[in-house]
Amino acid sequence: MDDLLKNLSNEAKEIISLLRKQEEIIWFNPQRGKQGSLNTVDQKSVADMQEAAERLQRFAPWIELNFPATAADNGLIESPLVPIRLMQKVLDPEAEVKGQLYLKRDDILPVSGSIKARGGIYEILKLAETIALKHQLISLADNYAVLSSPENKRVFSDYSVAVGSTGNLGLSVGIISAQLGFQTTVHMSSDAREWKKVKLRSLGVEVIEYDDDYSKAVAEGRKSAEADPNCHFVDDENSEDLFMGYSVAALRLQHQLKELGVIVDKDHPLFVYIPCGVGTGPGGVGWGLRHLYGGNVYVFFAEPTQSPCVLLGLATGLHDKISVYDIGLSGKTEADGLAVSRASRPVCEKLEPSLAGCLTIEDRHLYSLLSMLEESEGIRLEPSALAGMPGPVVLSSSNEGRAWLAENNLTDVMKDATHIVWSTGGSMVPPEEMQEFIARGRQEMQ
Ligand SMILES: *Cc1c(COP(=O)(O)O)cnc(C)c1O
Repeated sequence: MDDLLKNLSNEAKEIISLLRKQEEIIWFNPQRGKQGSLNTVDQKSVADMQEAAERLQRFAPWIELNFPATAADNGLIESPLVPIRLMQKVLDPEAEVKGQLYLKRDDILPVSGSIKARGGIYEILKLAETIALKHQLISLADNYAVLSSPENKRVFSDYSVAVGSTGNLGLSVGIISAQLGFQTTVHMSSDAREWKKVKLRSLGVEVIEYDDDYSKAVAEGRKSAEADPNCHFVDDENSEDLFMGYSVAALRLQHQLKELGVIVDKDHPLFVYIPCGVGTGPGGVGWGLRHLYGGNVYVFFAEPTQSPCVLLGLATGLHDKISVYDIGLSGKTEADGLAVSRASRPVCEKLEPSLAGCLTIEDRHLYSLLSMLEESEGIRLEPSALAGMPGPVVLSSSNEGRAWLAENNLTDVMKDATHIVWSTGGSMVPPEEMQEFIARGRQEMQ
């Protein structure tokens, strides 16, 4: 391991020494725009995203029937984009952020209350479609609501689904998979919350617990699934389906921005700040946005100071070959879904050419921001979902941020910028636990 670190560039070594200090930092990706112009819109990638969106559209009648909360959106699992002006004032009393601040409310996504309702559900629906077509239960033009019939569910019950998860992915995959009729096993790491296990077991999902971190849960899940040809393993670190499911958010967001009359172009840049664990969720969204908006969108991943695995993977160029343990960090954070020690390799490879950068945040600030948002806007998020919240202020007011904006000729257009903080979860947290989060945040604010 020492060899691995010895051969790094001086820039990478400097970043590592900052990360070791566990301070909050913002890091700008030197590779952005270096591997070819970002101002070309890649039609193939857009077509892939559209294909995923059409698949979700085909399932809309089934989703609406099984999850009535989606009826308002006709069976689409989507969340609102809302301005948070009151929070913006509290967050930034000096008004250093000139543009408009929005919250993308994946915390209230129907079905599973987190961003995982995008990727996890998409992957299982795609699996169900493949099996249903093979058994001629449906054709592409049919109303997929028929998949709810007892006969069709019996066909699905010959198949099984497995996933390794810190919690939210297991919850998403488990809920949808059990509803379709698949036999479902969720391998959970030690940091997963009790209520998620209880909820899954109540749906007939088998929950296997490990006294170890997320990578272990994934590895064990992968191993047990390999033995069974009828078992589909949802691989959070490598799955293309998950990634594409998340990317559909970019198409939907583009539509929402248009409806709100928000322009995105060279003079109206779009900044997006998304909490990041292994990288698949924020990666899918970021990749999708890059292919829709080219160089006019700037995506930042937000990670806890103890588990900045994607920042570390990209800054060193080692991607998944280095873990936060290798530089002496604990990997431990109370932010569900973000306690990940090693980045996804495909995500590092796909995002390296376009990602704007990463920022890190301490757990105690997740809590104080959680209370601040609750008090100002009445919006209740889980701690992880706040990770991106400091992004706009750090970018606009830190020395590093200002220098980077100037280098990228953005200083003068920031007054017309749009900032979107991606809220990744919260609505399924039990009320007692939410009260504790809020109380803890109030303490942290003092
Ligand atoms: C999973 C998760 C993320 C990050 O997604 P990754 O795909 O692991 O990077 C962020 N926030 C919450 C609440 C999550 O559950």
